[in-house]
Amino acid sequence: KTTHFGYKTVATSDKVNHVADVFHSVAAKYDLMNDLLSFGIHRLWKRVTIASSGARKGQTILDLAGGTGDLTAKFSQLVGETGKVILGDINDSMLKVGRDKLRDRGLVSNIEYVQMNAEALPFPDNSIDVITIAFGLRNVTDQSKALASMFRVLKPGGRLLILEFSKPEHEVLTKLYDMYSFNILPQVGKAVLNDSESYKYLAESIRMHPDQDTLEAMMKEVGFEQTSYQNMTGGIVALHRGFKF
Ligand code: SAM
Repeated sequence: KTTHFGYKTVATSDKVNHVADVFHSVAAKYDLMNDLLSFGIHRLWKRVTIASSGARKGQTILDLAGGTGDLTAKFSQLVGETGKVILGDINDSMLKVGRDKLRDRGLVSNIEYVQMNAEALPFPDNSIDVITIAFGLRNVTDQSKALASMFRVLKPGGRLLILEFSKPEHEVLTKLYDMYSFNILPQVGKAVLNDSESYKYLAESIRMHPDQDTLEAMMKEVGFEQTSYQNMTGGIVALHRGFKF
């Protein structure tokens, strides 16, 4: 199977194991690497995501593939004592780094940490107000299955936000970005973590991810309505939004 970038996708079981290896390897330095490699811009992308979430006091929010918990920390403050944030991730190393970080910041009372696979969410139907998945969907093997699972657990009126790398809007930006991600990313990975392979995976997984319109169509396919997306940083990243009614 090839994608709009022409890259081949890897076999299913290989992908699951490979993604697990990548995140076990990068967990301890994940936050540092995010700041370094995005020049801190991931913080801005995440702020826009929070602003689009409509999160309110008392709500139940799932920060899926939440990793080290940047979004969870913000949501924890927004939903207050009467609300709840679930940080869900498949990888126990990432969950542990996230839990330690948020506990160190004194965020304890309204956060749950649950190991889960996005493809089979362990919640009843119609039970969650808002789901966010930031830089996570790209790593999931069966993305349509995961989207269907998110749709199932959202309450009617609930919304899904997908923050993910996407397709740059202009050819020049694509070329620059390719140079950056295939040359610089693995080198920084090697210098900081002695791990260039994980950052080669990052570059490749970004190329293979569905573009803006394809992802929006996939959301509609499983039932999401009023879908839309917003490009950020020239389409390097896109924020998709959809509602369940
Ligand atoms: N959301 C965080 C952020 O924006 O900083 C972390 C993003 S990190 C790049 C991707 C996360 O997706 C990792 O923590 C990884 O373990 C998780 N992940 C990968 N496959 C998953 C799956 N099938 N279900 C749930 N989480 C998954």
